[in-house]
Amino acid sequence: MRIRITVLPGDGIGPEVITEAVCVLEAVARVFKHEINFTFKEIGGCAIRQHNDPLPEGTLTACLEADAVLLGAVGDPEFDNYPTHLRPEAGLLRLRRGLGAFANLRPARLFDSLAGASPLKSEVIKGTDILIVRELLGGLYFGEPRHVSDVNGTREGINTMRYSEPEIERIARVAFDLARSRRRKVTSVDKANVLECSRLWRETVTRVAQDYPDVKLEHQYVDSCAMALVARPASFDVMLAENMFGDILSDEAGAVVGSLGLLASASIGGPVGLYEPVHGSAPDIAGKGIANPLGAILSAAMLLRFSFQLDNEAAAVETAVEKILSAGHRTRDLASGDQQFVTTEEMGKHVTDYIERIG
Ligand code: NAD
Repeated sequence: MRIRITVLPGDGIGPEVITEAVCVLEAVARVFKHEINFTFKEIGGCAIRQHNDPLPEGTLTACLEADAVLLGAVGDPEFDNYPTHLRPEAGLLRLRRGLGAFANLRPARLFDSLAGASPLKSEVIKGTDILIVRELLGGLYFGEPRHVSDVNGTREGINTMRYSEPEIERIARVAFDLARSRRRKVTSVDKANVLECSRLWRETVTRVAQDYPDVKLEHQYVDSCAMALVARPASFDVMLAENMFGDILSDEAGAVVGSLGLLASASIGGPVGLYEPVHGSAPDIAGKGIANPLGAILSAAMLLRFSFQLDNEAAAVETAVEKILSAGHRTRDLASGDQQFVTTEEMGKHVTDYIERIG
């Protein structure tokens, strides 16, 4: 197969983890006899520095012309006081909208060998295997009006949580369809006791559920869900959430399974899929060679599966990650106490070598 991937390394640890994900894809191409062409473009802070725009036109065009997009992370404290449209994160939001990627899939599965890396007791986390389905193009991150303004001499900030019924329905269908290939349970997250927007969310999800009588639906308020996620994480199967609730809960899920650095994501629904680790640019560890590249590598596996239906290739990457972790290799975020840890590059090489060995 011939595959064209636009790669957006981005800021902070983005380029470090993406280098390893690209090496893994190159190994997959060698072993499974595919041809992968990579085009590298800027997004985020590095794009602001070079083009005064967090998503230059050339970047969006290259993404729309590719078969899939692989992204590292955006974010740089240097731009913290810039206006909203000139911040790195604005580039990512525009990219997601430009690609029409409304469904963000974030698996959080416990690798057995990492039970000790979670802050929770092993009997609590045993069997945790959650798929968070997060709506990605609506809610507070996109709603209008949004601004900070002066009202009678006092500054006031406004954001808007807004969802239409069709927007809720299409993401709910993604969650129910995916539940059918898993344990057939959807937990829909909202705050329907307080928010009108959430009441519409709950009503719409309940209506969509009637088309999926074989899937069990439960509703949960976001605050109680946050608690249940640490108290009984293994009880969740598919978790369906609007944009901000899903963003927050997936970081929490990262800690439950051992580290945010492990979590991968796929953003689908438009003509070109976008694949990126869940974590941000981690400026606190950028440049130190200690970032965990497995979230980016597992995002590359999702790319192979969702954009190209290359299930064997995706499984090879996932198996490699599982075996490398079982063999005891740990990046710093996964190491406990004075346990030895490997660098970003060494972890990537372990995965690449494993894939080459099965070839
Ligand atoms: P973050 O995800 O960058 O980091 C949170 C914590 O997790 C930090 O302690 C960091 O060191 C650690 N961490 C994250 N990824 C890791 C990895 N791969 N290996 C080891 N440790 C890892 O979140 P933050 O600190 O809140 O945000 C930093 C910047 O990233 C901000 O500018 C924010 O806007 C941006 N951000 C971007 C994205 C994205 O690009 N998708 C997502 C979240 C945050």
